[in-house]
Amino acid sequence: MIKKRTKIVCTLGPACNTEEKIGQLIDAGMNVARLNFSHGTHENHANFIRIVRAVATEKQQVVGVLQDIQGPKIRLGILPEEGIMLAEDEAIIFDTGLEKYHEDIIPIGYDQLHTMVQAGERLLLSDGKVEVSITSIVGTRIYAVVVVAGKIFSYAGINVPDVVSHIPVLTDKDKEDVLFGIEQQVDMIAMSFVTRPQDILDLRYFIDAYVQEKNIVQEHPIKIIAKIERREAVEHMKEIIEVSDGIMVARGDLGIEIPVQQVPLVQKRLIDACLLQAKPVIVATQMLDSMYSNPRPTRAEVSDVANAVIDHTDAVMLSNETAMGAYPVKSVEMMHAIISEVEKSTYDSLPVYIQKNKHNVDDIISGLSRVLAEDVGAKAILAASLSGETGRLISRYRPELPVFVAAENKRVEAQLALSWGVQPFVLPRCHTIEELIERSLVHLKEKKLLKKGDRIIIVAGEPVGQKGHVNLLEVRDLD
Ligand code: PEP
Repeated sequence: MIKKRTKIVCTLGPACNTEEKIGQLIDAGMNVARLNFSHGTHENHANFIRIVRAVATEKQQVVGVLQDIQGPKIRLGILPEEGIMLAEDEAIIFDTGLEKYHEDIIPIGYDQLHTMVQAGERLLLSDGKVEVSITSIVGTRIYAVVVVAGKIFSYAGINVPDVVSHIPVLTDKDKEDVLFGIEQQVDMIAMSFVTRPQDILDLRYFIDAYVQEKNIVQEHPIKIIAKIERREAVEHMKEIIEVSDGIMVARGDLGIEIPVQQVPLVQKRLIDACLLQAKPVIVATQMLDSMYSNPRPTRAEVSDVANAVIDHTDAVMLSNETAMGAYPVKSVEMMHAIISEVEKSTYDSLPVYIQKNKHNVDDIISGLSRVLAEDVGAKAILAASLSGETGRLISRYRPELPVFVAAENKRVEAQLALSWGVQPFVLPRCHTIEELIERSLVHLKEKKLLKKGDRIIIVAGEPVGQKGHVNLLEVRDLD
């Protein structure tokens, strides 16, 4: 059976906090486990990481661990438990110096917000359900009038879509969380509210400095995934993708920061931009949202997942559905079923001749591997990929046959779990092509993925596995 090619990212939480449940998520098709650091304690997250790794090893499956850091999310302060109803046209006052609702004044949990905003700009509260327009600012107070009415509760998120953000993207909390993630050897870190390429470089510098200072042995550097959820990030997508190792289309906040009707086309542009640069992309948020409380999704949700696959995303993500919902395993099974249905068709096929990175030999050979595989009727592509780079380059051409990628260590293998169509496995570095093939075959035959007589395409380089050295494309009939 050909494995599904589009990968599934599951957010972990109280709904799946046992070995049994996580085992069921893996059986249902989870490829990457996401830990959302907007919630939970370090102890909780460490427990999840331990369980995921133990269960994946026991099941001989590859599951990457993605740490999602909160970023500078601005929130309201403490409100009465029953919430506050804001009526249309009502004049209201916020105060950034206040912790708790007092004499009709609404507290804001970020003490600099009054310095960032101006009269005429909007504040969007509670995932954009409530909108207010700022009329004036006096000291730490922000005076506003309600444009879209609704009820607000303690700690609801605040979005400031009209403002070019000057808040440091890597907050003190994020720094603490990242140090924890490094110690726990997470495979990937997703950075929230990225606005410009420098944010990614800052995080990379922060990680490298700590790794060096503490002499931490890493099999391979942690990958950084940029969450695209701010208007500025959409405007600079190409440059941000260039310095990131992948992106997440974080449609929750994105749909508040830009007009929601623009999200579907931005999603397509982001996926296209990632395909061009061979960087994995995750489409996230509300994909099967109603499965939080229902065993069956809505027709619109099914279409949304299917269309993300047709858009050529690498991965689709579940959030509340798996973290807090009543049907975490059913949600993954449903996602798997939708992906499989689309992948059986030709709707998700990518034309052979997509744009290549001219003069990049690794990229061109990777592209040719698909053409050759189709022309000679090969059963699979086998690639040696020290850093995972060749695996990602082959993946970007979306060959519709198994792509087995021999990674040098567990971290590279886990990072490849996010890339479309790639089935990674660990193979310590080989010195000759013969050794690579022999040892790969032992593994792939043992797993019943290849057999004698199968024709395969080999993508490698001599010396085998040397980074930036793909110079060999071979057709081989296995004996
Ligand atoms: C999003 O906004 O879509 C998202 C994935 O981020 P978070 O869950 O951290 O809000």
